[in-house]
Amino acid sequence: MTNAGDMADRDLDEVFAALARSDFRSSFRLRGKELDYLRKKGLPTVLEHAASFVEQRLAPAHPANDGKQTPMGNHPAFVAQHATGACCRGCLEKWHKIPKGRALSPAEKEYVARVIGRWLASQES
Ligand SMILES: [Zn+2]
Repeated sequence: MTNAGDMADRDLDEVFAALARSDFRSSFRLRGKELDYLRKKGLPTVLEHAASFVEQRLAPAHPANDGKQTPMGNHPAFVAQHATGACCRGCLEKWHKIPKGRALSPAEKEYVARVIGRWLASQES
């Protein structure tokens, strides 16, 4: 397979390097109640929630309220989505080259979950 879901880690490294050069994206940190939640629930559980957010809020070809569907807080995955440009279909297109206007493939959903997971893991320590 050659789709985004199989992107090698070095490609994710490039995406994360680009995010680090964005003042806006790199301004996000996990803190307060979202950090506590991650520590209490653990990364696997938080990633299950993230997968369902992706499924419901990002994966459809035309998600409801696209551009405003991801709250700025209240769940660690939401913070991760803003930090990684995975908050809406416009940002997914800009940062991850996943085109708007069509449903995400299973591999793309997996890829987005991997991006969110990598960012969350970087915030845990
Ligand atoms: Zn966005």
